[in-house]
Amino acid sequence: MLIFSESKAMASSKGKTKRPAGRRKGSGRRRGGVLGNRAVRRAIVGGWAVVVAVAVGFLLMRAMDERMPSIQPIAARDPAPVAPVRPSSPTDAVDSAPRVTARPVERPADIAAVPPPPPVAAEEQAYDSRPAWQRFAMAPPAQLGKKPVIAIVIDDVGVTKRELDSLLALDAGVTFSIMGYADNMADFARKARAGGHELLVHVPMQPEGNADPGPKALTLGLSPAEIRARLRWQLDRHDGFVGINNHMGSRFSADAAGMAVVMAELKARGLLFLDSRTAAGSVGEEKAKEAGLPTASRDVFLDNEIGANAIEAQLVLAERRARDKGTAIAIGHPHEATIEALARFIPQAQARGIVFVPVSTVIARRSGLDLPTAAAAGAAAGTTAGPGKRSELPPRPRG
Ligand SMILES: [Zn+2]
Repeated sequence: MLIFSESKAMASSKGKTKRPAGRRKGSGRRRGGVLGNRAVRRAIVGGWAVVVAVAVGFLLMRAMDERMPSIQPIAARDPAPVAPVRPSSPTDAVDSAPRVTARPVERPADIAAVPPPPPVAAEEQAYDSRPAWQRFAMAPPAQLGKKPVIAIVIDDVGVTKRELDSLLALDAGVTFSIMGYADNMADFARKARAGGHELLVHVPMQPEGNADPGPKALTLGLSPAEIRARLRWQLDRHDGFVGINNHMGSRFSADAAGMAVVMAELKARGLLFLDSRTAAGSVGEEKAKEAGLPTASRDVFLDNEIGANAIEAQLVLAERRARDKGTAIAIGHPHEATIEALARFIPQAQARGIVFVPVSTVIARRSGLDLPTAAAAGAAAGTTAGPGKRSELPPRPRG
């Protein structure tokens, strides 16, 4: 539609192109000369158009003859406009009727001249084609049924390194959100996934007030291109994650235009979005849904107040939410007090029938999406994953 109206506009503007009015004034004095010049110019232009058309036609014919023996010659008698033939991909050649003719021009020449994308290698097609959030999801425990589930997410992972070992010792149901700008996290990420922990990338976004969200934060006033560039910079530094959640972001996450740019990039990468919900006015979950992403919002912050009793009280709140609604998402931070509280609370809650699951499991449940069970994931890995891109859903060690 856009292309059509653009080409219409081009055609009409071409039709309107006339000599400047100034040239017509006083043309009586040198009419013969002007006419003569015009005739010569027309002849030259016409001649060149014919030459160019014949040359282009000849080159296209030669190029296409190699692949399509029965192609019809491109008509060269109509010198303008020269009809560029849409570059045909190998599949075009295969599925075309025996007599392939030059396609009518529907697109501007510069688009038509873009070379076709390289053919997809057969082994590439054999790779796991599920979106990244499913490929990198940790399977929930088997026989989950309708048991109340809690997803614990630890944010800000990797800003300092001293707590990493104690995080890895936590139950596999704890998800880690690695700070987008954190360095040297590949080893931790590998160990975490090997231990059954799911990963997010924690993307800094502008808060209300003057707190510094950190390098490459998404802030108001950035162009969409710069938002994309900063997000890509963070996503490209890490591997094996199912999606992102926001670090801070009470200001940016309320900006519909900025969040829409974020969601478009996540959608293109097959990732999910967890709204940390640092502000009541966040449009994160709403924009993620609009973009068709699996998404959910945090229910409970565990350690706004850092202390054993306060954190325990928040964990109880999460348990109550899970019993009432079936699922709960709780976010904490790598404080010693939080890690210790989790290490105490998780086995007690498990004894009461609570199941701790990767965050993707809760998001899938809330989004009405299926998540592969451990068994199904194994089967999928065996049949659809290609070399070097395993679906990476190891059985989850529990305990
Ligand atoms: Zn954070």
